[in-house]
Amino acid sequence: METVVDLAAIAHNVRILREHAGDAAVMAVVKADGYNHGAVEVGKAALAAGAAELGVTTIPEAVLLREAGITAPILTWLNNSDADYAAALTADIEIGVSSLAQLRAVEAAARSTGRTATISLKVDTGLHRNGLTPIEYPQALAALRTLVDEQAVRFRAIFSHLACADEPEHPTNDVQRARFLEAIATAKEHGLEPELVHLSNSPATLTRPDLAFDMVRPGIAVYGLTPVPDIDDFGLRPAMTFQARVALVKQVAAGEGVSYGHTWIAPHDTTVALIPAGYADGVFRSLSGRFDVWLGGARRPNVGRVCMDQFVVDLGDNAADVRAGDPAILFGSGPDEPRAQDWADRLDTIHYEVVCSPRGRAVRRYV
Ligand code: PLP
Repeated sequence: METVVDLAAIAHNVRILREHAGDAAVMAVVKADGYNHGAVEVGKAALAAGAAELGVTTIPEAVLLREAGITAPILTWLNNSDADYAAALTADIEIGVSSLAQLRAVEAAARSTGRTATISLKVDTGLHRNGLTPIEYPQALAALRTLVDEQAVRFRAIFSHLACADEPEHPTNDVQRARFLEAIATAKEHGLEPELVHLSNSPATLTRPDLAFDMVRPGIAVYGLTPVPDIDDFGLRPAMTFQARVALVKQVAAGEGVSYGHTWIAPHDTTVALIPAGYADGVFRSLSGRFDVWLGGARRPNVGRVCMDQFVVDLGDNAADVRAGDPAILFGSGPDEPRAQDWADRLDTIHYEVVCSPRGRAVRRYV
């Protein structure tokens, strides 16, 4: 079984995002191993297609990109105070600072390595995850001012993250925009002028051009999944296909049960195909009996329970052209193929989680 990642689709999606971004630069977000598409390959494809920078969560993720030869700016935004900031400085990785304690840790790394740390301040404008609070922000600015004067730190950017951007008209978007502008003004009052400011994720990039500022930070749209499925797909192309090859085709007589617990009983004599992919590989057991695969030119329903390593599909009367070895597409991008969004709808989750699910024996291949 494999995930096939279409790097031409990544390039296509980045071009679409660049069009929507207008004059703003594009930072392609490749955290969590590129949303499970492969951070290095996606990062390189995105940069080749015109992304200016890459964004990840942690310093080790950024170091892996550097080790793969990527020289573009890389921002990392969620690190504990005891993270290896010296490694970040050595690899020329920009650090998103969310607390005074973190700023002090970066300062210590700058002093111990003799390098200038490139930092961006992450301000909490309403998401209330990480980001400097209104109380800590002025203290951090005062500390930063000294560090900039001492050339221990280069102050690159102020950035923040939106809570409700997948609802473009949500009032919180405007509240956060106003607080973001306030934070920029407060920095200026402290004599600090960032080189750039950025706020938008994928949904904001595609639906709220007024929030683009100097750079946008799309993630999910890079992978071809619309962040606002009810509004538009913007011509994005899903980059990931999750597929497995039929292990065997067999007959099941009417009245026989299939898979653990016999939750499905063949209503008539039928032919089934065994697909060697299970919940250990990212096929959710809670999808049992609730999803189709694209196989032999048709959609075929899963019947019975999804097991750890395998599941069964019913070929019904239309089995003649299905053979062991044929590819079964669990989700992909073809017009009739099931989509990650179909899984998300059935699982009451979002397609972000669906594409992050293939794992274990699901080998990744690039086309
Ligand atoms: N910026 C930050 C700080 C993030 O944490 C994320 C993802 O959570 C993104 C940008 C990209 O978000 P999306 O995948 O919704 O575009």
